[in-house]
Amino acid sequence: MNPACGRFTEDILTGKARLSCSCGGTVVPQPNMTPGEWGDARRAFKVRHAGPKLTVAELEVTLTESVQLQAFYAKLLNQHDGGERIVFSSVEAWVARLRETGKLPKKTTPP
Ligand SMILES: [Zn+2]
Repeated sequence: MNPACGRFTEDILTGKARLSCSCGGTVVPQPNMTPGEWGDARRAFKVRHAGPKLTVAELEVTLTESVQLQAFYAKLLNQHDGGERIVFSSVEAWVARLRETGKLPKKTTPP
């Protein structure tokens, strides 16, 4: 999800139906594409570049609430069955876990 996505322009003046997104992404019909395939490619591009449905501030609140829910239920279930589920104490702890497990890329330090 790219916050810069979501505004589309089509370049029909050049005779090539290039579809561009406000993020700089673009798609052009390939010579061997049928009109149906080009329609599919355009729809897929628009889905991929639809832009965020929530603001970053809303996503931050959503993430914080989700981590708190995780902690609550992990504790509750651990008390119930003696399990050892990880209780994430913060968004940062959750992000660190996602990096550990490869769901998020390992943090790279700038050169
Ligand atoms: Zn885009």
